Amino acid sequence: MKIRILDIAYETMADGPGLRTSIYCAGCAHHCPGCHNPQSWDFAAGQEMDVEELLMIVKDDEFADVTFSGGDPLYQVEAFTELARRIKEETGKNIWCYTGFKYEDIQADDRMSRILPYIDTLVDGPFVADLRDPDLPFRGSSNQRIIHLTKKEDDAIPGTVSI
Ligand code: SF4
Repeated sequence: MKIRILDIAYETMADGPGLRTSIYCAGCAHHCPGCHNPQSWDFAAGQEMDVEELLMIVKDDEFADVTFSGGDPLYQVEAFTELARRIKEETGKNIWCYTGFKYEDIQADDRMSRILPYIDTLVDGPFVADLRDPDLPFRGSSNQRIIHLTKKEDDAIPGTVSI
């Protein structure tokens, strides 16, 4: 299984707590006005990488947890589900996933909901320029929620919702 990737950041602290390997995928159809990264909208951008290859990159850094971002990973949800399942089963690393979809819509969708059991924290919802707040940790606008699905994390981060 392959994922179309724009970039990978190593040991970043921008996409969730602690050091993380952030995997930025290509493609997003939400087209939020004011998106910080419109070059990520193109589904043909970047390069395809095997889930196996991405898993090796994640495993290579023993100390970093993992973030899926983009673009929107849920447009390639089957391959990201496979990657998340392998990461969880083989490393137990913490996984954050950014998406422009809302949690309730993901939950109601047969395809997308299959990734949820492997995600610790979902940052959901589109970017809304009128609600932009540069002081918010780990998200761009105040409508976006940091949803701890596994309830194992520090919920002191403002905007955190436990489901
Ligand atoms: S969901 Fe994210 S990547 Fe997609 S258009 Fe909105 S802000 Fe940009």
